[in-house]
Amino acid sequence: MILPKANRLTPEQLDEVTAIVAEFGCRIQPIVGAVRSIYAILGDERDELMINRIEGLEYIERIDRIQSQFKLMDKRSDLATHRIRVGGVTLGEKLLVIAGQCTIDPKNPNYFYETAAAVKEAGADSIRGGVWKPRTNPYSFQGDAKSLDILMEGSRRTGLPVDAEVMDEEQVELALDAGVHMLQVGARNALNYSLLRTIGREVAKRPDAVVLLKRSIHMGPISEFISAAEYIAAFGNPNVILCPRGTSPTMDGYRNHPDESITPLLKEKTWAPVVVDPSHSVGKASYVPACALAAVAYGADGLCIESHVSPSHGIGDDPKQALTPDVLKKLIQQARQLRALRRG
Ligand code: PEP
Ligand code: MN
Repeated sequence: MILPKANRLTPEQLDEVTAIVAEFGCRIQPIVGAVRSIYAILGDERDELMINRIEGLEYIERIDRIQSQFKLMDKRSDLATHRIRVGGVTLGEKLLVIAGQCTIDPKNPNYFYETAAAVKEAGADSIRGGVWKPRTNPYSFQGDAKSLDILMEGSRRTGLPVDAEVMDEEQVELALDAGVHMLQVGARNALNYSLLRTIGREVAKRPDAVVLLKRSIHMGPISEFISAAEYIAAFGNPNVILCPRGTSPTMDGYRNHPDESITPLLKEKTWAPVVVDPSHSVGKASYVPACALAAVAYGADGLCIESHVSPSHGIGDDPKQALTPDVLKKLIQQARQLRALRRG
């Protein structure tokens, strides 16, 4: 729907706009009001070039889209009934809990195996473990491809699916070849469209693979987050889970600004499941349970929580924000109770 700056378009302006949309196979239908007229675009109005050209005309205020720009991830798309499975959990039917270490320590694999067993015992459905890590400081531990074997051994020992972040094409291929069930796109890379395309292309060859897409701190409108998911799904595998993980600017005292409250907004626009990461959001173990429960209250389909059998021996974020398995167990119980209450 085209809204002009003035109350209506002049005949010359209407001719110009009509000629532009005709190039894209569309027509204009004026909707004439007593004071103001607006102009419907009849046809497929999603072409960005057409929209940009009209919005660039100095007499146009803006275009309000009626058709969604998300062909696949929109709540009204044909995929709306698609269900994503992670191990034994069908998203939307049961709360999915992903838990485990921020970073696998390749020198101390037993911590990871113990953590994997403990988070399973605490009620987690899937295990996370960082193999390659995006670190602010180039001299910090960057991860180690050897940890991929440790991650997969943790999966074999527990029988649970595993999740790891990937940051480039080589890592995507190594992770998928090793059998990693869920590829994580981190907050730093959620706007890296070439990585999103690579992941989309590779997971399209593995219909069971799932992508956990974190929200970038640089994303503004909800549409940017859903568009990133659309990039991946466009290649043919729509198993993309949206993961709010705290945004910017930070809330004084928290690592980031908690953003679990965007869950209902996302659910209004997309069928994609929402799994909230409270660990990176608030960034301190003692704040994590409240944030996780808030996420469930907001309608999240799952949680991704950092946990470690001995947080002080962890590397990466674990000393600060990992929950011990006993705290995790209580939290999972409460989260499941809260979800049942919400649904009842
Ligand atoms: C992580 O999951 O350990 C991580 C680095 O997350 P994020 O991309 O959300 O910062
Ligand atoms: Mn982390």
